[in-house]
Amino acid sequence: MGKPTGFLDYERETAEAVAPKERIKNFNEFHTPLSKEEQQKQGARCMNCGVPFCQAGTMISGMASGCPLHNLVPEWNDLVYTGNWEQAYNRLKKTNNFPEFTSRVCPALCEAACTCGHWGDSVSVKENEHGIIENAYEQGYAAAKPPKVRTGKKVAVIGSGPAGLAAADQLNKRGHLVTVYERDDRVGGLLMYGIPNMKLQKEVIDRKINVMKEEGIEFVTNTDVGKDVKAAKLLKDYDRVILACGAKNPRDINAPGRDAKGIYFAVDFLTSTTKSLLNSNLTDNKYISAKGKKVVIIGGGDTGNDCVGTCIRHGAASVTQLEMMPKAPDTRAENNPWPEWPKVSKTDYGQEEAIAVFGHDPRIYTTTVKEFLKDKNGNLCGLKVVKLESKKDEKTGRMQMVEVPGSESKMDADMVLIAAGFLGAQKYVADAFGVELNQRTNVATEDGKYKTNVAHVYTAGDMHRGQSLVVWAIREGREVAREVDESLMGYSYLSVQ
Ligand SMILES: Cc1cc2nc3c(=O)[nH]c(=O)nc-3n(C[C@H](O)[C@H](O)[C@H](O)COP(=O)(O)OP(=O)(O)OC[C@H]3O[C@@H](n4cnc5c(N)ncnc54)[C@H](O)[C@@H]3O)c2cc1C
Ligand code: SF4
Repeated sequence: MGKPTGFLDYERETAEAVAPKERIKNFNEFHTPLSKEEQQKQGARCMNCGVPFCQAGTMISGMASGCPLHNLVPEWNDLVYTGNWEQAYNRLKKTNNFPEFTSRVCPALCEAACTCGHWGDSVSVKENEHGIIENAYEQGYAAAKPPKVRTGKKVAVIGSGPAGLAAADQLNKRGHLVTVYERDDRVGGLLMYGIPNMKLQKEVIDRKINVMKEEGIEFVTNTDVGKDVKAAKLLKDYDRVILACGAKNPRDINAPGRDAKGIYFAVDFLTSTTKSLLNSNLTDNKYISAKGKKVVIIGGGDTGNDCVGTCIRHGAASVTQLEMMPKAPDTRAENNPWPEWPKVSKTDYGQEEAIAVFGHDPRIYTTTVKEFLKDKNGNLCGLKVVKLESKKDEKTGRMQMVEVPGSESKMDADMVLIAAGFLGAQKYVADAFGVELNQRTNVATEDGKYKTNVAHVYTAGDMHRGQSLVVWAIREGREVAREVDESLMGYSYLSVQ
């Protein structure tokens, strides 16, 4: 620990955001990073305390507390404080293959578990991570370092999201020859076509993919494994196959009128915008446009928030977000103490923008859709919604949300975006390899393992654990790489943490 009184001397600072009404004029990232000097002060706030939950990544009350990658947070905070940026990068890359992604999109489980945050403001860990990786690119530390020795073993990774990329990166560093197959036209999975450009500018992905290519990883895009390439061929051509295809089945809302024109899944809406943005700066008109529309987003979570921000940038007439659950408290409840993940209400960037543009929070709580209303041409023209309340189920004793009798009302809408989560792996890929799915329709493995029921076939990421976070996908990618390496070589020195 560099500065014993750092947490008393300096206030928490994070990158300044461009004002909502200004940033909605484009799809660019909108944070101005701290200067190096300011970042050093933020590093000094870390007390390298005796109970660094920030790096624990352990489950408490069913939720992760601390960084799932076990990033060596206090170590690199100290190195940032003392200005040892290269060393800080070396420590960071030991546990995290993609700080350029996590330092932009991670919900920062580390900060929620930071000891400083117990009584005051947590250390700006995510910000420090961002400073370290961006400095590494500037200074050339993050340049390609191809492995010196090749093992001659070949691994195919199916899916180029963060799980597949982390597995590929680890196995390539180990000297195996890795090919990543991707169904889409660009590499990155939901990092590319899911998370909007203003949260993660796509040049950041391309920058890392170019490094990975220089290091020897081959990327094959526009190739749908199980359809364009047969599973049997991959099993013949490669020593091991890793399935990292994500949890791509969106949860639907099966209310009457679902066939109305104007209802889309959130991920299709977000993908179409990013694709058009990258291909033509939105001039090709090949995206689902919310311009002038009265949009209702079903789902109050992070994906719903990304839709709010995107709709506003399109020029929507109004944006409403429906959430089934009640609003979370503003501060931790007594039964949700530190260092548990705080179940508190947050106003994310899209909601901030909606407040600035429309004058109110777009979220309506304890409400769901009962019917989609159509005009005579089959176009969506409104919604019948109903209020919900929490009640104990007499049979199971569990609390559940039930309709409040007589609470139905109508709402104007000519566009609906369904952001109600995902239901698991797409079956055709699993079937192509003959791998078993579990009850949650994720690919089945033993607990804590990545080997499937089919010889030489492994799995990781959302396809294995269900819809999750980038940081968990990277962790699974690292863990599957170690298991695959062990199976190929009889031992492995690849670190998972
Ligand atoms: C809109 C949205 C916003 C999100 N925002 C955040 C966020 O801010 N922070 C965060 O931490 N998490 C966020 N998440 C969650 C996070 O993106 C995922 O948990 C993570 O990307 C999962 O990584 P993955 O590698 O397992 O799968 P994915 O990222 O889903 O990648 C799977 C890849 O496999 C490819 N594929 C599938 N089948 C085949 C096939 N047969 N052949 C070839 N390729 C195939 C797909 O095209 C895809 O590119 C968000 C999710 C969504 C939907
Ligand atoms: S990856 Fe996420 S949880 Fe881990 S240190 Fe970075 S911001 Fe924190």
